[in-house]
Amino acid sequence: MKAEIIAVGSELLLGQISNTNAKFISSQLAELGIDVYYHTVVGDNSNRLLETIKLAEQRADLLIFTGGLGPTKDDLTKETIATHLNKRLIMDDHALVDIEEFFKRMNRVMTENNKKQALILEGCNVLPNKHGMAPGMLLSTDKHSYILLPGPPKEMEPMFQFEAKPMLSKLINEETIILSHVIRFYGIGEAELETKVQDLLDNQTNPTLAPLASDGEVTLRLTAKSETELDAREKIDTLQAEIFKRVGEYVYGYNDDSLASKLQEILVENQLTISAAESMTAGLFQSELASIPGMGAVLVGGMITYTEEIKVEQLGVKQQIITESGVVSSKCAEAMAIRIKEKFGTNIGVGITGAAGPDAHGGQPAGTVWIGLVLNQMAPFSYQLNLTGMRNTNRLRAVKFAIHYLIRLLREHGFTTI
Ligand code: ATP
Ligand code: MG
Repeated sequence: MKAEIIAVGSELLLGQISNTNAKFISSQLAELGIDVYYHTVVGDNSNRLLETIKLAEQRADLLIFTGGLGPTKDDLTKETIATHLNKRLIMDDHALVDIEEFFKRMNRVMTENNKKQALILEGCNVLPNKHGMAPGMLLSTDKHSYILLPGPPKEMEPMFQFEAKPMLSKLINEETIILSHVIRFYGIGEAELETKVQDLLDNQTNPTLAPLASDGEVTLRLTAKSETELDAREKIDTLQAEIFKRVGEYVYGYNDDSLASKLQEILVENQLTISAAESMTAGLFQSELASIPGMGAVLVGGMITYTEEIKVEQLGVKQQIITESGVVSSKCAEAMAIRIKEKFGTNIGVGITGAAGPDAHGGQPAGTVWIGLVLNQMAPFSYQLNLTGMRNTNRLRAVKFAIHYLIRLLREHGFTTI
């Protein structure tokens, strides 16, 4: 099945908003194994929308629209589709009740034009809107299927995921189970990863294998089709085992995991507390950890020790270390980790020091970072990074690498199997 995503809205063409709806829907369709060949954007104009529909019908089986389902005059998606398919728009009583209740809850008076939102294409399946008013629709004709979704992402995303996707899944083939699984990597570039699994990429059939890189991370998506879930899962497990043999050391998690959420999981599971002394990242590491709910059980706190004096006077790094090795050094990062661990009485201490850029710092070129880690009574570990990004990219990368190395260390010492 081939799909085309048609985003309706002049604000998209004027550059006022980005077409994030298409991105979301595409990634969801990938999980179903539905190919997307075109993303189209068209303004709030009935004639041009009609031309767009006719063109899309020539090259796709499934047309997915977002936007233009609201109550105002410029919202004309369903009207245009109704005219084109020669269908009537009929009042849906359930949707009308939902809209009336929505206004009651908001303590607002419902105006007459709001009723327009309860009009649906005759013969369609209604997709209830749990986060707004305009319901979505799925309509199938002999040749095509049409899905109409509201524009606001907070309404569209849950509607697609929980209402439209299950219907689509049935529409494709009731017999087929499609299972999708994402493996997440850090510390390996996209090109290197692809080289290591090149033959698997070249020979993929079922499961299919798709790499994706973003924000310094790389993922591999495995999608298996089968008649039973068990068999689909086995297919994925077999391919995953092969991938692990080659690049397993870079794997940090799966599906919706993030580096920080995975770290939180491991720390909580093993009841390991953590503290950090941060120089170049100035609190970014702790902020990243704190973005995960439940981090309070393991993140005790830390210090921002930006200047040399504060590192010495407040944290207790020996002046001699800084004089002899420099402030951006393995010794200094390790000393920061050891001191913060002792001061805060945690199982793990993290020290991050470096030259964020654009200028050199502590005698080291921009992008040089040292991450110091200490775990329980073990000797400290340190890792050097030579980053090439802009200042704030380097700061963020330093945080992610620190989490990555920590997860690796915890895995090497048996705290997680991943
Ligand atoms: P409403 O009932 O809010 O009018 P609607 O279904 O009529 O919803 P639009 O009027 O087209 O949708 O868009 C409403 C808002 O939804 C836009 O102002 C924008 O913030 C968001 N939006 C619309 N289309 C997209 C898109 N393709 N990607 C991301 N956001 C979008
Ligand atoms: Mg609108």
